[in-house]
Amino acid sequence: MTVQVEGAPVAVVTGGSRGIGAAVVLALARQGWDLCFSYVSNVAAAESTAAQVRDLGRRAVTVQADVADRAALARLFAAADQAYGRLDALVNNAGIVGGVHSILDADDAHLTSLFRTNVLSQFFCVQEAARRMSTQRGGRGGSIVNLSSAAARHGGMPNEAHYAASKGAIDSFTVALAKELAPHGLRVNAVRPGLIRTDIHDAHGGQELVDRIGPTVPIGRAGTAEEVAEVVAFLAGPLSGYMHGAVVDVSGGR
Ligand code: NAP
Repeated sequence: MTVQVEGAPVAVVTGGSRGIGAAVVLALARQGWDLCFSYVSNVAAAESTAAQVRDLGRRAVTVQADVADRAALARLFAAADQAYGRLDALVNNAGIVGGVHSILDADDAHLTSLFRTNVLSQFFCVQEAARRMSTQRGGRGGSIVNLSSAAARHGGMPNEAHYAASKGAIDSFTVALAKELAPHGLRVNAVRPGLIRTDIHDAHGGQELVDRIGPTVPIGRAGTAEEVAEVVAFLAGPLSGYMHGAVVDVSGGR
Protein backbone atom coordinates (compact mmCIF):
# COMPACT_ATOMS: atom_id res chain seq x y z
CA MET A 1 0.00 0.00 0.00
CA THR A 2 1.39 3.43 -0.91
CA VAL A 3 1.88 5.92 1.93
CA GLN A 4 -0.55 8.84 1.55
CA VAL A 5 1.10 12.00 2.87
CA GLU A 6 1.95 15.34 1.35
CA GLY A 7 5.19 14.72 -0.57
CA ALA A 8 7.07 11.47 -0.35
CA PRO A 9 8.10 10.34 3.14
CA VAL A 10 11.82 9.86 3.68
CA ALA A 11 13.63 7.07 5.51
CA VAL A 12 17.24 6.71 6.57
CA VAL A 13 18.34 3.05 6.56
CA THR A 14 21.75 1.96 7.85
CA GLY A 15 23.40 -0.88 5.92
CA GLY A 16 21.03 -0.62 2.97
CA SER A 17 23.39 -1.99 0.35
CA ARG A 18 22.88 -5.71 0.93
CA GLY A 19 20.83 -8.31 2.77
CA ILE A 20 17.91 -7.29 4.96
CA GLY A 21 18.78 -3.58 4.69
CA ALA A 22 18.63 -3.63 0.88
CA ALA A 23 15.31 -5.49 1.03
CA VAL A 24 13.99 -2.84 3.46
CA VAL A 25 15.10 -0.05 1.14
CA LEU A 26 13.26 -1.70 -1.77
CA ALA A 27 10.12 -2.50 0.27
CA LEU A 28 9.92 1.14 1.38
CA ALA A 29 10.53 2.38 -2.17
CA ARG A 30 7.67 0.20 -3.42
CA GLN A 31 5.46 1.87 -0.79
CA GLY A 32 6.34 5.37 -2.01
CA TRP A 33 9.24 6.35 0.24
CA ASP A 34 12.42 8.17 -0.79
CA LEU A 35 15.58 6.72 0.75
CA CYS A 36 18.93 7.76 2.16
CA PHE A 37 20.98 4.71 3.09
CA SER A 38 24.47 3.86 4.19
CA TYR A 39 26.95 1.14 3.44
CA VAL A 40 30.42 0.54 4.84
CA SER A 41 32.53 -0.72 1.91
CA ASN A 42 30.51 -2.32 -0.90
CA VAL A 43 29.97 0.59 -3.28
CA ALA A 44 28.79 -1.66 -6.11
CA ALA A 45 26.06 -3.22 -3.98
CA ALA A 46 24.95 0.20 -2.73
CA GLU A 47 24.76 1.60 -6.25
CA SER A 48 22.87 -1.48 -7.47
CA THR A 49 20.28 -1.08 -4.70
CA ALA A 50 20.00 2.65 -5.41
CA ALA A 51 19.44 1.91 -9.11
CA GLN A 52 16.63 -0.49 -8.22
CA VAL A 53 15.02 2.25 -6.08
CA ARG A 54 15.19 4.66 -9.03
CA ASP A 55 13.69 2.01 -11.32
CA LEU A 56 10.73 2.01 -8.91
CA GLY A 57 10.34 5.76 -9.49
CA ARG A 58 11.68 6.79 -6.07
CA ARG A 59 14.79 8.74 -5.07
CA ALA A 60 17.88 7.23 -3.42
CA VAL A 61 20.98 8.74 -1.85
CA THR A 62 23.87 6.48 -0.79
CA VAL A 63 26.47 7.43 1.82
CA GLN A 64 29.60 5.52 2.81
CA ALA A 65 29.36 5.66 6.60
CA ASP A 66 30.61 3.18 9.18
CA VAL A 67 27.89 3.09 11.85
CA ALA A 68 30.56 2.88 14.52
CA ASP A 69 31.81 6.32 13.45
CA ARG A 70 29.77 9.16 14.89
CA ALA A 71 31.10 11.74 12.41
CA ALA A 72 30.19 9.46 9.51
CA LEU A 73 26.66 9.11 10.86
CA ALA A 74 26.38 12.90 11.04
CA ARG A 75 27.28 12.92 7.33
CA LEU A 76 24.59 10.31 6.62
CA PHE A 77 21.83 12.40 8.20
CA ALA A 78 23.18 15.63 6.68
CA ALA A 79 22.93 13.98 3.26
CA ALA A 80 19.26 13.21 3.91
CA ASP A 81 18.69 16.81 5.03
CA GLN A 82 20.34 18.14 1.91
CA ALA A 83 18.57 15.83 -0.53
CA TYR A 84 15.07 15.84 0.94
CA GLY A 85 14.75 18.41 3.75
CA ARG A 86 12.63 16.03 5.80
CA LEU A 87 12.85 12.77 7.74
CA ASP A 88 9.99 10.43 8.60
CA ALA A 89 11.65 7.15 9.63
CA LEU A 90 14.91 5.60 10.75
CA VAL A 91 15.68 1.92 10.26
CA ASN A 92 18.65 0.89 12.44
CA ASN A 93 19.64 -2.14 10.39
CA ALA A 94 23.44 -2.39 10.09
CA GLY A 95 24.96 -5.02 12.34
CA ILE A 96 27.69 -7.65 12.40
CA VAL A 97 28.27 -11.04 14.03
CA GLY A 98 31.71 -10.00 15.20
CA GLY A 99 33.34 -13.39 14.66
CA VAL A 100 33.14 -16.62 16.61
CA HIS A 101 34.98 -16.33 19.92
CA SER A 102 34.60 -18.14 23.18
CA ILE A 103 34.07 -15.74 26.05
CA LEU A 104 37.31 -17.22 27.39
CA ASP A 105 39.22 -15.74 24.45
CA ALA A 106 37.32 -12.57 23.58
CA ASP A 107 39.51 -9.53 24.13
CA ASP A 108 38.50 -6.06 25.23
CA ALA A 109 39.12 -4.44 21.86
CA HIS A 110 36.92 -6.95 20.07
CA LEU A 111 34.06 -6.63 22.55
CA THR A 112 34.23 -2.85 22.56
CA SER A 113 34.24 -2.69 18.77
CA LEU A 114 31.29 -5.12 18.46
CA PHE A 115 29.16 -3.22 20.94
CA ARG A 116 29.99 0.07 19.25
CA THR A 117 28.89 -1.30 15.86
CA ASN A 118 25.77 -3.16 17.02
CA VAL A 119 24.54 -1.07 19.97
CA LEU A 120 26.08 2.38 20.28
CA SER A 121 25.49 2.95 16.56
CA GLN A 122 21.75 2.63 17.18
CA PHE A 123 22.00 5.16 20.04
CA PHE A 124 23.89 7.55 17.75
CA CYS A 125 21.39 7.18 14.89
CA VAL A 126 18.39 7.61 17.20
CA GLN A 127 19.93 10.82 18.51
CA GLU A 128 20.41 12.15 14.98
CA ALA A 129 16.94 11.09 13.86
CA ALA A 130 15.00 12.09 16.98
CA ARG A 131 16.52 15.58 17.01
CA ARG A 132 15.12 16.02 13.49
CA MET A 133 11.74 14.26 13.87
CA SER A 134 10.75 15.28 17.43
CA THR A 135 7.55 17.30 17.53
CA GLN A 136 9.09 19.11 20.51
CA ARG A 137 11.96 20.27 18.30
CA GLY A 138 9.90 21.44 15.33
CA GLY A 139 9.74 18.06 13.59
CA ARG A 140 6.63 16.28 12.36
CA GLY A 141 7.08 13.02 14.31
CA GLY A 142 7.98 9.71 12.77
CA SER A 143 9.00 6.15 13.44
CA ILE A 144 12.08 4.17 14.35
CA VAL A 145 12.62 0.46 13.69
CA ASN A 146 15.58 -1.29 15.30
CA LEU A 147 16.97 -4.61 14.02
CA SER A 148 17.45 -6.99 16.91
CA SER A 149 17.75 -10.78 16.56
CA ALA A 150 16.10 -13.93 17.83
CA ALA A 151 19.56 -14.55 19.30
CA ALA A 152 18.56 -12.07 22.01
CA ARG A 153 16.09 -14.73 23.21
CA HIS A 154 17.85 -18.04 22.49
CA GLY A 155 21.49 -17.01 22.95
CA GLY A 156 22.53 -17.37 19.32
CA MET A 157 25.09 -19.63 17.65
CA PRO A 158 27.88 -21.25 19.70
CA ASN A 159 30.57 -18.87 20.93
CA GLU A 160 28.64 -15.75 19.92
CA ALA A 161 27.58 -14.45 23.34
CA HIS A 162 28.85 -11.03 22.23
CA TYR A 163 26.35 -10.96 19.35
CA ALA A 164 23.38 -12.30 21.35
CA ALA A 165 24.02 -9.85 24.18
CA SER A 166 24.35 -6.92 21.79
CA LYS A 167 20.91 -7.76 20.38
CA GLY A 168 19.46 -8.19 23.87
CA ALA A 169 20.53 -4.60 24.46
CA ILE A 170 18.54 -3.54 21.39
CA ASP A 171 15.38 -5.13 22.78
CA SER A 172 15.74 -3.18 26.04
CA PHE A 173 16.70 -0.02 24.17
CA THR A 174 13.55 -0.28 22.06
CA VAL A 175 11.19 -0.68 25.00
CA ALA A 176 12.83 2.20 26.89
CA LEU A 177 12.85 4.47 23.84
CA ALA A 178 9.16 3.85 23.25
CA LYS A 179 8.45 5.37 26.66
CA GLU A 180 10.89 8.23 26.28
CA LEU A 181 10.11 9.24 22.72
CA ALA A 182 6.30 8.95 22.61
CA PRO A 183 5.92 12.55 23.83
CA HIS A 184 8.10 13.55 20.88
CA GLY A 185 5.66 12.07 18.37
CA LEU A 186 7.91 9.09 17.69
CA ARG A 187 6.90 5.43 17.51
CA VAL A 188 9.65 2.92 18.21
CA ASN A 189 9.58 -0.81 17.49
CA ALA A 190 12.06 -3.61 16.87
CA VAL A 191 12.18 -6.69 14.67
CA ARG A 192 13.89 -9.90 15.75
CA PRO A 193 14.79 -11.90 12.64
CA GLY A 194 15.57 -15.58 13.03
CA LEU A 195 17.73 -17.52 10.57
CA ILE A 196 17.65 -15.37 7.42
CA ARG A 197 19.59 -16.27 4.27
CA THR A 198 22.06 -13.38 3.88
CA ASP A 199 25.83 -12.94 3.70
CA ILE A 200 26.01 -12.24 7.45
CA HIS A 201 26.38 -16.00 7.92
CA ASP A 202 29.78 -15.90 6.17
CA ALA A 203 31.02 -15.13 9.70
CA HIS A 204 30.18 -18.66 10.90
CA GLY A 205 29.75 -21.26 8.18
CA GLY A 206 28.08 -19.42 5.33
CA GLN A 207 25.20 -20.79 3.30
CA GLU A 208 26.11 -24.38 4.28
CA LEU A 209 25.22 -23.51 7.85
CA VAL A 210 21.94 -21.94 6.70
CA ASP A 211 21.18 -25.12 4.68
CA ARG A 212 21.92 -27.30 7.71
CA ILE A 213 19.96 -25.33 10.32
CA GLY A 214 17.10 -24.24 8.07
CA PRO A 215 15.16 -27.52 8.33
CA THR A 216 15.33 -27.38 12.14
CA VAL A 217 13.38 -24.11 12.23
CA PRO A 218 9.76 -24.94 13.13
CA ILE A 219 8.51 -23.54 9.82
CA GLY A 220 11.01 -25.85 8.06
CA ARG A 221 13.35 -23.42 6.33
CA ALA A 222 15.45 -20.27 6.63
CA GLY A 223 13.71 -16.97 5.95
CA THR A 224 14.42 -14.45 3.21
CA ALA A 225 15.52 -10.85 3.57
CA GLU A 226 12.28 -9.82 1.88
CA GLU A 227 10.17 -11.60 4.50
CA VAL A 228 11.85 -9.53 7.21
CA ALA A 229 11.77 -6.34 5.16
CA GLU A 230 7.99 -6.39 4.70
CA VAL A 231 7.53 -6.38 8.48
CA VAL A 232 10.11 -3.61 8.95
CA ALA A 233 8.39 -1.49 6.29
CA PHE A 234 5.01 -2.10 7.94
CA LEU A 235 6.41 -0.95 11.31
CA ALA A 236 8.01 2.12 9.71
CA GLY A 237 4.79 3.22 8.03
CA PRO A 238 1.38 4.52 9.09
CA LEU A 239 -0.45 1.18 8.91
CA SER A 240 1.18 0.17 12.21
CA GLY A 241 0.10 3.41 13.93
CA TYR A 242 -0.82 1.76 17.26
CA MET A 243 2.29 -0.46 17.44
CA HIS A 244 4.79 1.04 19.85
CA GLY A 245 7.46 -0.58 22.00
CA ALA A 246 6.85 -3.91 20.26
CA VAL A 247 9.64 -6.41 19.62
CA VAL A 248 8.35 -8.49 16.75
CA ASP A 249 9.72 -11.97 15.98
CA VAL A 250 10.14 -12.81 12.29
CA SER A 251 11.75 -16.14 12.92
CA GLY A 252 9.67 -18.97 11.50
CA GLY A 253 8.79 -20.05 15.03
CA ARG A 254 12.43 -20.44 16.14
P1 NAP B 1 24.46 -8.54 5.84
O1 NAP B 1 23.84 -9.36 4.78
O2 NAP B 1 25.82 -8.88 6.33
O3 NAP B 1 24.43 -7.00 5.37
C1 NAP B 1 24.99 -6.06 6.22
C2 NAP B 1 24.70 -4.68 5.69
O4 NAP B 1 25.16 -3.75 6.69
C3 NAP B 1 25.47 -4.34 4.43
O5 NAP B 1 24.71 -3.36 3.74
C4 NAP B 1 26.77 -3.74 4.97
O6 NAP B 1 27.39 -2.80 4.09
C5 NAP B 1 26.25 -3.01 6.18
N1 NAP B 1 27.23 -2.87 7.24
C6 NAP B 1 27.96 -3.83 7.87
N2 NAP B 1 28.76 -3.28 8.79
C7 NAP B 1 28.53 -1.95 8.74
C8 NAP B 1 29.08 -0.84 9.42
N3 NAP B 1 30.02 -0.97 10.36
N4 NAP B 1 28.62 0.39 9.10
C9 NAP B 1 27.67 0.54 8.16
N5 NAP B 1 27.12 -0.45 7.47
C10 NAP B 1 27.57 -1.68 7.76
O7 NAP B 1 23.54 -8.53 7.17
P2 NAP B 1 21.98 -8.91 7.31
O8 NAP B 1 21.87 -10.37 7.51
O9 NAP B 1 21.20 -8.23 6.26
O10 NAP B 1 21.68 -8.27 8.75
C11 NAP B 1 21.02 -7.00 8.89
C12 NAP B 1 20.62 -6.86 10.35
O11 NAP B 1 19.74 -7.93 10.71
C13 NAP B 1 21.78 -6.91 11.33
O12 NAP B 1 21.57 -5.99 12.39
C14 NAP B 1 21.74 -8.33 11.85
O13 NAP B 1 22.32 -8.46 13.12
C15 NAP B 1 20.24 -8.57 11.87
N6 NAP B 1 19.90 -9.99 11.83
C16 NAP B 1 20.20 -10.78 10.77
C17 NAP B 1 19.86 -12.13 10.80
C18 NAP B 1 20.17 -13.09 9.67
O14 NAP B 1 20.00 -14.32 9.86
N7 NAP B 1 20.60 -12.62 8.51
C19 NAP B 1 19.22 -12.67 11.93
C20 NAP B 1 18.93 -11.83 12.99
C21 NAP B 1 19.27 -10.49 12.94
P3 NAP B 1 28.45 -3.28 2.92
O15 NAP B 1 27.56 -3.82 1.80
O16 NAP B 1 29.16 -2.04 2.54
O17 NAP B 1 29.32 -4.32 3.52
